[in-house]
Amino acid sequence: ATANIGVVGLAAMGSNLARNLARHGNTVALFNRHYERTEKLIEDHGDDGNFVPAKTIEEFVASLTKPRTAIIMVKAGAPTDATIEALADAMDPGDIIVDGGNSYFKDTIRREKDIRARGLHFVGCGVSGGEEGALNGPSLMPGGTDESWKTLGPILKSIAAQAEGEPCVTHIGENGAGHFVKMVHNGIEYADMQLIAESYDIMRRGMGMTPDEIGDVFEAWNKTELNSYLIEITADLLHEKDKKTGKPLVDIIVDHAGMKGTGTWTVQTALELGTPVTVVAEGVFARGLSDQTELRAGAAEQNLSGPDGTIEFANDEERKAFINDIRQAMYASKIVAYAQGFNEINDGAKEYGWDIDLAAVARIWRGGCIIRAQFLNVVSDAFESGEANVSLLFASYFKDAIERCQGSWRRVVAKTMSCGIPAPVFATSLSYYDALRSKRLPACLIQSQRDFFGAHTYGRVDEPGTFHTLWAEPGRPEEKMSD
Ligand code: NDP
Repeated sequence: ATANIGVVGLAAMGSNLARNLARHGNTVALFNRHYERTEKLIEDHGDDGNFVPAKTIEEFVASLTKPRTAIIMVKAGAPTDATIEALADAMDPGDIIVDGGNSYFKDTIRREKDIRARGLHFVGCGVSGGEEGALNGPSLMPGGTDESWKTLGPILKSIAAQAEGEPCVTHIGENGAGHFVKMVHNGIEYADMQLIAESYDIMRRGMGMTPDEIGDVFEAWNKTELNSYLIEITADLLHEKDKKTGKPLVDIIVDHAGMKGTGTWTVQTALELGTPVTVVAEGVFARGLSDQTELRAGAAEQNLSGPDGTIEFANDEERKAFINDIRQAMYASKIVAYAQGFNEINDGAKEYGWDIDLAAVARIWRGGCIIRAQFLNVVSDAFESGEANVSLLFASYFKDAIERCQGSWRRVVAKTMSCGIPAPVFATSLSYYDALRSKRLPACLIQSQRDFFGAHTYGRVDEPGTFHTLWAEPGRPEEKMSD
């Protein structure tokens, strides 16, 4: 046995991860269900480093040094279960199975329990950064035991992206913690992308700007506190022309956005935990609406009434000021999206018994992953100092930022609503912020309705205990139900 690490599943992600591992001095065992992929990897990229190709899973396992460590990069779901099973059968106690696919964290909890019972380690590891990240440095979010981290840590550190000299990987927590954090990362990605899309839409149809002009705006924004991978690629792709027609490529692309499920999981999990992640939810629903072909065609036929989306400006100065408003609104909404996402991680950690260092999570998202952004430096500082323990919105840096951006934020939401441009993420983030700072919410009325029709009881502001009003009785007496 010569390989210190192995990769099972050599499609786009697995082969790039294997190459990255080999380029960093690891000897990499390779296995894929159909051997052609393994052959192709050796043929095309055998020069990247030391590979040990295997035709069977037994041969693959035999080529690994102990403790044997294998990273699975196959289709999520049943194929992952089948691969784990085959590996566990061929491996010995103490060996480590890593699932680098986009698995649902509850599957990871279940698999970890099963594999642990067989004396092996199981690590669910979130991998972000797509194919390019897998090859040149992803952001890695491994869960699992401390013991497995001892073997795996140095290997993952060798291939992770670097941000300010630090590898973008940290041991997130036990069992499903890594996949949970990766899930929320993806949820935040939905929010970030929808915010960019809404900003584009306001400029495009509200202000009549061309994709090129908007691309220039994003390019300029990328030099501000919004500096991030997603803003950078948006600027680039808005400048792209269609080869066939010469038109901006973005105008040729059908306006349906797909999704693979991690955004939906983020929202479903948040609903289970009772954590409001309204910004992520609107991001997911906006994609859903984009794909409701029949509904949208029906609406077009119905010619539903409303303003046409044009924003009027008195002069150029006003137009410029509004572009600046959109930038500031985006920053404020982005802060809310991250505040909600980190709240979900915190609530998940409490529910599932994980000890997750939020500052470390923010740090490993600074490089390699899709939401990488300069802003994550200050996010990690806010958690480090303890100021963001309850909410990122309470950290002085972000409190000040929102104070600064708030006028713009409100102008953008008000303008889009009055002109008929949908901006669900801008709007819901502002509503969340306003709800949070409200001393009293109208939930008192909802609770009275619940008590009225379902005797669900209520608390009083002036006395401890639970109460119920006999709403239908003459004189409506109140009963104290418990202390
Ligand atoms: P795919 O998700 O397309 O999966 C293809 C791989 O799965 C092939 O190696 C295939 O083997 C193998 N496979 C499929 N079914 C089985 C089975 N029943 N038994 C054994 N092996 C099977 O590949 P990707 O590289 O795109 O992604 C791999 C994993 O990484 C997925 O879980 C994905 O969600 C995750 N991921 C992907 C990202 C991306 O940007 N694409 C980013 C981060 C994570 P064969 O060649 O024999 O068919």
